[in-house]
Amino acid sequence: MQAMANRSCIIRLSRYKNALNRLRTLNFVRVFSDNLADAAGVTAAQVRKDFSLFGITGNRRGGYRVDELAEQLNKILGKDQLHEFIVIGVGNIGRALLHYPGFERSGINIAAGFDIDPAKFNRDSKPPVLPLDQLAGVIKSRDIKLAILAVPDYAAQQVLELVLSAGIRGVLNFAPICLKAPAGCVINNINLETELENLIYFVNAANGGN
Ligand code: ATP
Repeated sequence: MQAMANRSCIIRLSRYKNALNRLRTLNFVRVFSDNLADAAGVTAAQVRKDFSLFGITGNRRGGYRVDELAEQLNKILGKDQLHEFIVIGVGNIGRALLHYPGFERSGINIAAGFDIDPAKFNRDSKPPVLPLDQLAGVIKSRDIKLAILAVPDYAAQQVLELVLSAGIRGVLNFAPICLKAPAGCVINNINLETELENLIYFVNAANGGN
């Protein structure tokens, strides 16, 4: 079923899924909304509300079978399929993402990296790093819909237009500039500096504003 959920709801579903995976390794067969609520830092009512949005119902006592629930959450979160990404900009961030082994465990495959700097090209590396003029061909031949941008701020808008025109529909943007998504596309902006400023502010606030 197709439900419309907001970003916070989907982040909570990911947390429930991670908690379920931990419970599964501990051989739990059933779980209650309270257990998942604890793991995600929300109320049990919120857990049930999130699940009901996707037609997930527990038994009369509010319990769920761990394996069934994990399967349902994996399906909603697209974890029942392999997803291919490309990375544009193979600087410090892009290179780290390109070689991060944790993606594979999550069903995410980085097909290739792209850069404008010939010094970064490496067709034989895994994944390969290719020139930008091969981007459209790779996207089309492998039907890739997802991209990670790790280019400098001044290049981000132009690179965004390039990947969207080549068929990309979802972008995770690490360039320190807030990109806006045209209709039919999704852009998640991650500004590491903003995140750190936020952390610093709240640490200072919690310590009496020093
Ligand atoms: P990072 O920001 O990842 O730490 P860095 O400081 O090493 O990277 P940046 O100047 O931010 O380098 O550039 C990141 C990468 O983006 C570089 O490899 C650069 O060659 C590449 N790049 C710059 N402009 C473009 C563009 N228009 N298209 C593709 N790649 C680009």
